[in-house]
Amino acid sequence: MEAPPTAGHCALCGGRDRLPVQSQRLALLGRDEPCRVEFCVCGDCGHIQQWPPAAPELMAHHYRSVATYEVFGEIESLRAAPPSRHARRFLQLAADIGLAPGRAYEVGCASGAMMHQFRSQGWQVAGCDPSPSAISQAAAIFDIQADLGNEADVLPRQRALDLVLACHVLEHLYDPRAALARFHAVLAQGGHLVLEVPCATMPDRLPPGWFTFEHLHYYQPAAMQRLLSETGFEVVETRIDSTSEHYPVMAIAARKSGQRQTVPAADASAGLHLAHSYAARDKLLWTATALRLACIQEPVFVYGAGIHTAQLLDRTGLLPNIIAIADRDSKKWGQSQAGKAVISPADLLAHPSRAPVVISSYVSERQIVAALLEGGIAPGRLVPLYSQIPPQTATRAAH
Ligand SMILES: [Zn+2]
Repeated sequence: MEAPPTAGHCALCGGRDRLPVQSQRLALLGRDEPCRVEFCVCGDCGHIQQWPPAAPELMAHHYRSVATYEVFGEIESLRAAPPSRHARRFLQLAADIGLAPGRAYEVGCASGAMMHQFRSQGWQVAGCDPSPSAISQAAAIFDIQADLGNEADVLPRQRALDLVLACHVLEHLYDPRAALARFHAVLAQGGHLVLEVPCATMPDRLPPGWFTFEHLHYYQPAAMQRLLSETGFEVVETRIDSTSEHYPVMAIAARKSGQRQTVPAADASAGLHLAHSYAARDKLLWTATALRLACIQEPVFVYGAGIHTAQLLDRTGLLPNIIAIADRDSKKWGQSQAGKAVISPADLLAHPSRAPVVISSYVSERQIVAALLEGGIAPGRLVPLYSQIPPQTATRAAH
Protein backbone atom coordinates (compact mmCIF):
# COMPACT_ATOMS: atom_id res chain seq x y z
CA MET A 1 0.00 0.00 0.00
CA GLU A 2 1.07 3.57 -0.47
CA ALA A 3 1.86 5.52 2.68
CA PRO A 4 -0.98 7.43 4.34
CA PRO A 5 -0.65 11.21 4.46
CA THR A 6 0.44 12.56 7.83
CA ALA A 7 -1.65 10.80 10.45
CA GLY A 8 -3.67 13.23 12.52
CA HIS A 9 -4.61 15.34 9.49
CA CYS A 10 -7.65 15.22 7.20
CA ALA A 11 -6.60 13.35 4.07
CA LEU A 12 -8.27 15.92 1.82
CA CYS A 13 -7.66 19.35 3.36
CA GLY A 14 -4.94 18.72 5.94
CA GLY A 15 -7.21 20.05 8.73
CA ARG A 16 -6.93 18.72 12.27
CA ASP A 17 -10.50 19.10 13.53
CA ARG A 18 -11.46 15.42 13.77
CA LEU A 19 -15.11 14.75 14.66
CA PRO A 20 -15.77 11.04 15.44
CA VAL A 21 -19.00 9.51 14.15
CA GLN A 22 -18.68 5.74 14.52
CA SER A 23 -16.10 3.19 15.55
CA GLN A 24 -15.94 -0.55 14.79
CA ARG A 25 -13.87 -3.35 16.32
CA LEU A 26 -13.32 -5.82 13.54
CA ALA A 27 -12.08 -9.41 13.85
CA LEU A 28 -10.30 -9.78 10.53
CA LEU A 29 -9.73 -13.15 8.92
CA GLY A 30 -6.46 -14.75 10.02
CA ARG A 31 -5.70 -12.09 12.66
CA ASP A 32 -5.85 -12.78 16.38
CA GLU A 33 -6.46 -9.24 17.59
CA PRO A 34 -9.50 -7.28 16.37
CA CYS A 35 -8.62 -3.97 14.77
CA ARG A 36 -10.35 -0.72 15.70
CA VAL A 37 -11.53 1.46 12.85
CA GLU A 38 -12.80 5.00 13.35
CA PHE A 39 -15.03 6.95 11.01
CA CYS A 40 -14.85 10.71 11.35
CA VAL A 41 -15.83 13.95 9.68
CA CYS A 42 -13.35 16.75 9.13
CA GLY A 43 -14.58 19.84 10.95
CA ASP A 44 -12.78 22.04 8.43
CA CYS A 45 -13.90 20.60 5.07
CA GLY A 46 -16.66 18.11 6.02
CA HIS A 47 -15.01 15.12 4.34
CA ILE A 48 -16.06 11.73 5.79
CA GLN A 49 -13.15 9.32 6.19
CA GLN A 50 -11.47 6.66 8.30
CA TRP A 51 -9.40 8.76 10.65
CA PRO A 52 -6.89 7.53 11.61
CA PRO A 53 -7.07 5.10 8.68
CA ALA A 54 -6.57 1.35 9.22
CA ALA A 55 -2.88 0.48 9.28
CA PRO A 56 -1.39 -0.07 5.79
CA GLU A 57 0.03 -3.48 6.78
CA LEU A 58 -3.44 -4.69 7.88
CA MET A 59 -4.96 -3.39 4.66
CA ALA A 60 -2.23 -5.08 2.60
CA HIS A 61 -2.87 -8.36 4.45
CA HIS A 62 -6.59 -8.03 3.70
CA TYR A 63 -6.06 -7.50 -0.03
CA ARG A 64 -3.44 -10.25 -0.21
CA SER A 65 -5.41 -12.94 1.58
CA VAL A 66 -9.11 -12.05 1.41
CA ALA A 67 -10.21 -9.40 -1.09
CA THR A 68 -8.22 -10.45 -4.14
CA TYR A 69 -10.83 -9.38 -6.69
CA GLU A 70 -10.88 -12.47 -8.85
CA VAL A 71 -13.75 -13.53 -11.05
CA PHE A 72 -15.34 -16.96 -10.99
CA GLY A 73 -16.61 -18.76 -14.08
CA GLU A 74 -15.73 -20.39 -17.37
CA ILE A 75 -13.24 -18.51 -19.57
CA GLU A 76 -15.45 -18.61 -22.67
CA SER A 77 -18.52 -17.29 -20.89
CA LEU A 78 -16.50 -14.54 -19.14
CA ARG A 79 -15.14 -13.42 -22.53
CA ALA A 80 -18.57 -13.45 -24.13
CA ALA A 81 -20.36 -11.84 -21.18
CA PRO A 82 -22.07 -8.49 -21.78
CA PRO A 83 -20.54 -5.46 -20.00
CA SER A 84 -21.11 -5.34 -16.25
CA ARG A 85 -23.27 -2.52 -14.89
CA HIS A 86 -20.10 -0.64 -13.96
CA ALA A 87 -18.58 -1.08 -17.41
CA ARG A 88 -21.84 -0.02 -19.05
CA ARG A 89 -21.87 3.22 -17.05
CA PHE A 90 -18.22 3.91 -17.96
CA LEU A 91 -18.74 3.16 -21.66
CA GLN A 92 -21.89 5.27 -21.75
CA LEU A 93 -20.27 8.23 -20.01
CA ALA A 94 -17.21 8.08 -22.32
CA ALA A 95 -19.50 7.95 -25.36
CA ASP A 96 -21.83 10.71 -24.13
CA ILE A 97 -19.01 13.21 -23.65
CA GLY A 98 -17.79 12.40 -27.15
CA LEU A 99 -14.50 10.60 -26.46
CA ALA A 100 -12.91 9.00 -29.52
CA PRO A 101 -11.02 5.75 -28.83
CA GLY A 102 -7.34 6.19 -28.00
CA ARG A 103 -5.01 4.95 -25.27
CA ALA A 104 -6.80 4.02 -22.05
CA TYR A 105 -5.28 2.87 -18.77
CA GLU A 106 -7.34 1.41 -15.95
CA VAL A 107 -6.09 1.88 -12.40
CA GLY A 108 -7.28 -1.05 -10.26
CA CYS A 109 -8.25 -3.13 -13.28
CA ALA A 110 -8.86 -6.38 -11.33
CA SER A 111 -9.21 -9.23 -13.83
CA GLY A 112 -9.65 -6.93 -16.82
CA ALA A 113 -13.36 -7.17 -17.64
CA MET A 114 -13.74 -3.39 -18.08
CA MET A 115 -10.61 -3.11 -20.24
CA HIS A 116 -11.92 -5.98 -22.35
CA GLN A 117 -15.10 -3.96 -23.02
CA PHE A 118 -13.21 -0.75 -23.85
CA ARG A 119 -10.95 -2.70 -26.22
CA SER A 120 -14.00 -4.02 -28.04
CA GLN A 121 -14.98 -0.35 -28.64
CA GLY A 122 -11.63 0.35 -30.32
CA TRP A 123 -9.54 1.52 -27.37
CA GLN A 124 -5.92 0.42 -26.80
CA VAL A 125 -6.01 -0.77 -23.21
CA ALA A 126 -3.60 -1.31 -20.34
CA GLY A 127 -3.96 -1.24 -16.60
CA CYS A 128 -2.61 -2.15 -13.21
CA ASP A 129 -3.73 -3.95 -10.08
CA PRO A 130 -2.02 -4.99 -6.83
CA SER A 131 -3.62 -8.47 -6.89
CA PRO A 132 -1.35 -11.11 -8.56
CA SER A 133 -4.29 -13.49 -9.06
CA ALA A 134 -6.40 -10.80 -10.74
CA ILE A 135 -3.49 -9.87 -13.04
CA SER A 136 -3.00 -13.49 -14.09
CA GLN A 137 -6.73 -13.80 -14.74
CA ALA A 138 -6.59 -10.71 -16.98
CA ALA A 139 -3.92 -12.45 -19.07
CA ALA A 140 -5.58 -15.87 -19.09
CA ILE A 141 -9.16 -14.77 -19.71
CA PHE A 142 -8.87 -11.59 -21.76
CA ASP A 143 -5.30 -11.76 -23.05
CA ILE A 144 -4.56 -8.42 -21.42
CA GLN A 145 -1.07 -7.96 -19.95
CA ALA A 146 -1.66 -5.63 -17.02
CA ASP A 147 0.98 -4.24 -14.66
CA LEU A 148 1.21 -5.88 -11.24
CA GLY A 149 1.51 -3.30 -8.48
CA ASN A 150 0.09 -0.22 -6.81
CA GLU A 151 -0.67 2.69 -9.11
CA ALA A 152 1.78 4.82 -7.10
CA ASP A 153 4.59 2.54 -8.27
CA VAL A 154 3.60 1.53 -11.79
CA LEU A 155 1.41 4.31 -13.21
CA PRO A 156 4.24 6.91 -13.46
CA ARG A 157 5.79 4.75 -16.23
CA GLN A 158 2.93 5.82 -18.51
CA ARG A 159 2.90 8.94 -20.70
CA ALA A 160 0.40 10.90 -22.79
CA LEU A 161 -2.64 8.72 -22.13
CA ASP A 162 -6.00 9.74 -23.56
CA LEU A 163 -8.05 8.22 -20.77
CA VAL A 164 -7.53 7.05 -17.20
CA LEU A 165 -10.25 4.85 -15.72
CA ALA A 166 -10.66 4.40 -11.97
CA CYS A 167 -13.69 2.33 -11.02
CA HIS A 168 -14.18 2.17 -7.24
CA VAL A 169 -10.54 2.95 -6.55
CA LEU A 170 -10.33 6.38 -4.91
CA GLU A 171 -12.29 5.30 -1.82
CA HIS A 172 -9.57 2.67 -1.14
CA LEU A 173 -6.51 4.94 -1.39
CA TYR A 174 -4.83 6.57 1.59
CA ASP A 175 -3.92 9.72 -0.30
CA PRO A 176 -6.44 10.40 -3.09
CA ARG A 177 -5.01 13.86 -3.76
CA ALA A 178 -1.59 12.38 -4.56
CA ALA A 179 -3.23 9.68 -6.72
CA LEU A 180 -5.16 12.29 -8.74
CA ALA A 181 -1.92 14.24 -9.24
CA ARG A 182 -0.37 11.06 -10.69
CA PHE A 183 -3.39 10.50 -12.97
CA HIS A 184 -3.04 14.10 -14.12
CA ALA A 185 0.68 13.68 -14.84
CA VAL A 186 0.26 10.66 -17.14
CA LEU A 187 -2.61 12.13 -19.20
CA ALA A 188 -2.04 14.02 -22.42
CA GLN A 189 -3.18 17.65 -22.34
CA GLY A 190 -6.96 17.51 -22.78
CA GLY A 191 -7.01 13.82 -21.82
CA HIS A 192 -9.80 12.54 -19.62
CA LEU A 193 -10.34 10.80 -16.32
CA VAL A 194 -13.49 8.75 -15.77
CA LEU A 195 -14.01 7.58 -12.23
CA GLU A 196 -16.71 6.10 -10.05
CA VAL A 197 -16.93 5.96 -6.24
CA PRO A 198 -19.63 5.20 -3.67
CA CYS A 199 -21.55 8.45 -3.19
CA ALA A 200 -22.10 9.83 0.31
CA THR A 201 -25.66 11.00 -0.18
CA MET A 202 -29.20 9.88 0.67
CA PRO A 203 -28.53 8.25 4.08
CA ASP A 204 -31.77 6.26 3.82
CA ARG A 205 -30.38 4.42 0.79
CA LEU A 206 -27.11 3.42 2.47
CA PRO A 207 -27.02 -0.19 3.72
CA PRO A 208 -25.94 -1.43 7.16
CA GLY A 209 -22.17 -1.63 7.37
CA TRP A 210 -21.64 1.02 4.68
CA PHE A 211 -18.83 2.48 6.77
CA THR A 212 -16.40 -0.34 6.14
CA PHE A 213 -12.81 -1.45 6.60
CA GLU A 214 -11.82 -1.29 2.92
CA HIS A 215 -13.22 2.18 2.28
CA LEU A 216 -11.04 4.93 3.65
CA HIS A 217 -13.10 7.74 2.03
CA TYR A 218 -16.82 8.53 1.66
CA TYR A 219 -17.10 11.23 -0.98
CA GLN A 220 -19.88 13.74 -1.24
CA PRO A 221 -20.27 15.18 -4.76
CA ALA A 222 -18.99 18.63 -3.76
CA ALA A 223 -15.91 17.17 -2.04
CA MET A 224 -14.98 15.09 -5.09
CA GLN A 225 -15.54 17.97 -7.49
CA ARG A 226 -13.44 20.27 -5.33
CA LEU A 227 -10.65 17.70 -5.12
CA LEU A 228 -10.65 17.34 -8.91
CA SER A 229 -10.48 21.11 -9.48
CA GLU A 230 -7.64 21.42 -7.02
CA THR A 231 -5.66 18.68 -8.76
CA GLY A 232 -5.98 20.25 -12.22
CA PHE A 233 -9.13 18.65 -13.62
CA GLU A 234 -12.18 20.32 -15.08
CA VAL A 235 -15.34 18.35 -14.30
CA VAL A 236 -17.22 17.61 -17.51
CA GLU A 237 -20.09 15.55 -16.15
CA THR A 238 -21.24 14.12 -12.81
CA ARG A 239 -23.82 11.32 -12.64
CA ILE A 240 -25.30 9.99 -9.43
CA ASP A 241 -27.08 6.65 -9.70
CA SER A 242 -29.01 5.69 -6.59
CA THR A 243 -30.75 2.56 -7.83
CA SER A 244 -28.38 0.32 -9.81
CA GLU A 245 -26.13 -0.78 -6.95
CA HIS A 246 -26.61 -1.57 -3.27
CA TYR A 247 -25.77 2.06 -2.46
CA PRO A 248 -25.65 5.29 -4.49
CA VAL A 249 -22.65 5.65 -6.77
CA MET A 250 -21.18 8.75 -8.41
CA ALA A 251 -19.51 8.66 -11.82
CA ILE A 252 -17.53 11.68 -12.97
CA ALA A 253 -15.85 12.50 -16.26
CA ALA A 254 -13.16 15.17 -15.97
CA ARG A 255 -10.72 16.74 -18.43
CA LYS A 256 -7.09 17.53 -17.70
CA SER A 257 -6.87 21.28 -17.71
CA GLY A 258 -3.93 23.64 -17.64
CA GLN A 259 -4.39 25.04 -14.18
CA ARG A 260 -5.26 24.00 -10.68
CA GLN A 261 -8.06 25.97 -9.14
CA THR A 262 -8.31 26.90 -5.53
CA VAL A 263 -11.87 26.30 -4.51
CA PRO A 264 -13.25 28.07 -1.42
CA ALA A 265 -13.31 25.97 1.75
CA ALA A 266 -16.44 23.90 2.07
CA ASP A 267 -19.06 24.11 4.76
CA ALA A 268 -18.55 21.06 6.97
CA SER A 269 -22.19 20.86 8.05
CA ALA A 270 -23.39 18.78 5.08
CA GLY A 271 -20.81 16.07 5.79
CA LEU A 272 -21.61 16.08 9.49
CA HIS A 273 -25.34 15.85 8.86
CA LEU A 274 -24.98 12.99 6.40
CA ALA A 275 -22.54 11.01 8.55
CA HIS A 276 -24.62 11.34 11.71
CA SER A 277 -27.93 10.55 9.93
CA TYR A 278 -26.40 7.46 8.43
CA ALA A 279 -24.69 6.33 11.66
CA ALA A 280 -28.02 6.61 13.53
CA ARG A 281 -29.79 4.53 10.89
CA ASP A 282 -26.94 1.98 10.85
CA LYS A 283 -27.23 1.60 14.62
CA LEU A 284 -30.98 0.98 14.41
CA LEU A 285 -30.56 -1.62 11.67
CA TRP A 286 -27.89 -3.53 13.60
CA THR A 287 -29.93 -3.35 16.80
CA ALA A 288 -32.86 -4.96 14.99
CA THR A 289 -30.54 -7.68 13.67
CA ALA A 290 -29.07 -8.26 17.15
CA LEU A 291 -32.55 -8.63 18.66
CA ARG A 292 -33.56 -11.11 15.99
CA LEU A 293 -30.42 -13.20 16.43
CA ALA A 294 -30.86 -13.15 20.22
CA CYS A 295 -34.09 -15.15 19.71
CA ILE A 296 -32.06 -18.09 18.36
CA GLN A 297 -31.10 -20.10 21.42
CA GLU A 298 -29.21 -22.91 19.70
CA PRO A 299 -25.72 -22.90 18.11
CA VAL A 300 -25.53 -21.63 14.51
CA PHE A 301 -23.32 -21.65 11.46
CA VAL A 302 -22.51 -18.37 9.76
CA TYR A 303 -22.19 -18.21 5.97
CA GLY A 304 -19.72 -15.61 4.71
CA ALA A 305 -16.25 -14.97 6.15
CA GLY A 306 -15.01 -11.43 5.84
CA ILE A 307 -15.77 -7.83 6.70
CA HIS A 308 -19.56 -8.15 6.89
CA THR A 309 -19.16 -10.96 9.43
CA ALA A 310 -16.61 -8.88 11.36
CA GLN A 311 -19.25 -6.13 11.57
CA LEU A 312 -21.96 -8.64 12.53
CA LEU A 313 -19.79 -9.96 15.38
CA ASP A 314 -19.05 -6.40 16.52
CA ARG A 315 -22.72 -5.37 16.55
CA THR A 316 -24.47 -8.50 17.86
CA GLY A 317 -23.89 -11.10 20.56
CA LEU A 318 -23.72 -13.96 18.06
CA LEU A 319 -20.07 -14.99 18.49
CA PRO A 320 -20.35 -17.50 21.38
CA ASN A 321 -23.12 -19.39 19.49
CA ILE A 322 -21.14 -19.93 16.29
CA ILE A 323 -20.05 -23.48 15.38
CA ALA A 324 -18.08 -22.50 12.27
CA ILE A 325 -18.11 -19.99 9.40
CA ALA A 326 -18.64 -21.31 5.87
CA ASP A 327 -17.46 -19.53 2.71
CA ARG A 328 -17.21 -20.46 -0.95
CA ASP A 329 -13.73 -18.92 -1.38
CA SER A 330 -11.21 -21.76 -1.05
CA LYS A 331 -8.47 -19.31 0.02
CA LYS A 332 -10.34 -18.84 3.31
CA TRP A 333 -10.79 -22.53 4.18
CA GLY A 334 -8.69 -23.58 7.15
CA GLN A 335 -8.25 -19.96 8.33
CA SER A 336 -10.18 -18.61 11.28
CA GLN A 337 -12.15 -15.48 12.04
CA ALA A 338 -12.68 -14.42 15.67
CA GLY A 339 -11.42 -17.86 16.66
CA LYS A 340 -14.01 -19.72 14.54
CA ALA A 341 -12.89 -22.10 11.80
CA VAL A 342 -13.72 -21.22 8.19
CA ILE A 343 -15.09 -24.27 6.34
CA SER A 344 -16.22 -24.99 2.78
CA PRO A 345 -19.89 -25.09 1.70
CA ALA A 346 -19.44 -28.85 1.18
CA ASP A 347 -18.27 -29.22 4.79
CA LEU A 348 -21.29 -27.22 5.92
CA LEU A 349 -23.70 -29.44 3.97
CA ALA A 350 -22.00 -32.63 5.19
CA HIS A 351 -21.80 -31.51 8.82
CA PRO A 352 -23.81 -33.74 11.21
CA SER A 353 -25.29 -30.68 12.92
CA ARG A 354 -28.50 -29.37 11.39
CA ALA A 355 -28.06 -25.99 13.06
CA PRO A 356 -29.46 -22.78 11.53
CA VAL A 357 -27.22 -20.96 9.01
CA VAL A 358 -27.07 -17.18 9.41
CA ILE A 359 -26.31 -15.62 6.01
CA SER A 360 -23.82 -12.82 6.62
CA SER A 361 -23.75 -10.79 3.44
CA TYR A 362 -25.72 -7.79 2.31
CA VAL A 363 -24.53 -7.76 -1.28
CA SER A 364 -24.67 -11.50 -2.08
CA GLU A 365 -27.42 -12.71 0.22
CA ARG A 366 -29.84 -13.81 -2.48
CA GLN A 367 -27.17 -15.71 -4.43
CA ILE A 368 -25.98 -17.47 -1.25
CA VAL A 369 -29.53 -18.50 -0.33
CA ALA A 370 -30.09 -19.83 -3.85
CA ALA A 371 -26.78 -21.75 -3.86
CA LEU A 372 -27.43 -23.33 -0.47
CA LEU A 373 -30.97 -24.35 -1.46
CA GLU A 374 -29.58 -25.85 -4.66
CA GLY A 375 -27.00 -27.69 -2.53
CA GLY A 376 -29.89 -29.35 -0.74
CA ILE A 377 -29.98 -27.50 2.56
CA ALA A 378 -33.36 -27.49 4.31
CA PRO A 379 -34.95 -24.03 3.76
CA GLY A 380 -35.93 -23.92 7.43
CA ARG A 381 -32.26 -23.77 8.44
CA LEU A 382 -31.56 -20.56 6.54
CA VAL A 383 -31.57 -17.23 8.39
CA PRO A 384 -31.12 -14.42 5.86
CA LEU A 385 -30.73 -11.04 7.56
CA TYR A 386 -32.01 -8.77 4.81
CA SER A 387 -34.38 -10.60 2.46
CA GLN A 388 -36.91 -13.41 2.56
CA ILE A 389 -36.53 -17.05 1.63
CA PRO A 390 -38.45 -17.55 -1.66
CA PRO A 391 -42.10 -18.33 -0.64
CA GLN A 392 -42.23 -21.75 -2.32
CA THR A 393 -39.41 -22.97 -0.06
CA ALA A 394 -40.30 -21.02 3.06
CA THR A 395 -42.76 -23.43 4.63
CA ARG A 396 -40.27 -24.39 7.31
CA ALA A 397 -38.46 -21.07 7.51
CA ALA A 398 -37.08 -20.36 10.96
CA HIS A 399 -38.22 -16.72 11.06
ZN1 LIG B 1 -10.73 18.25 5.77
